[in-house]
Amino acid sequence: MTVLDRYARSFVLSEILSGLALTFRYMFKPKVTLNYPYEKGSLSPRFRGEHALRRYPNGEERCIACKLCEAICPALAITIESEPREDGSRRTTRYDIDMTKCIYCGLCEEACPVDAIVEGPNFEFAAETREELFYNKEKLLQNGDRWEQEIAEKLALDAPYR
Ligand code: SF4
Ligand code: SF4
Repeated sequence: MTVLDRYARSFVLSEILSGLALTFRYMFKPKVTLNYPYEKGSLSPRFRGEHALRRYPNGEERCIACKLCEAICPALAITIESEPREDGSRRTTRYDIDMTKCIYCGLCEEACPVDAIVEGPNFEFAAETREELFYNKEKLLQNGDRWEQEIAEKLALDAPYR
């Protein structure tokens, strides 16, 4: 570009005008951005978010303390202790997940024979301290109660592919 060309372009403000034209062109197109956190995008049924322990519809815990999730966890994030109940069924007395170790691989969910431990749709669980990310059984069951409907829908959608 010659010096004369540059001066001519500056004089007629061609670059500013082409920039404004581009802005106007996109002003009337559908928006591709979301007004998060007021708007949220759709999530895949396979999204691996915050963990939850599920119950059966009668309120009974699904987990049978088989410890497969603990055994398969590559990050050694899960700690389970269990003992038999009076009726002979086996249930956990302790179910902890250290979320600071978890790598969200989903293997615990894959290994569970009764769909008890799952990774739900919640991704808004940032914390300010490490201690808040040491989840115990009570916290995991609360997550399960809170997200049961969404989790059940996601499992139903993914079931044909499992
Ligand atoms: S998602 Fe992976 S790393 Fe996290 S608790 Fe489950 S098995 Fe362990
Ligand atoms: S969550 Fe599932 S895999 Fe883990 S101990 Fe309970 S039943 Fe077994």
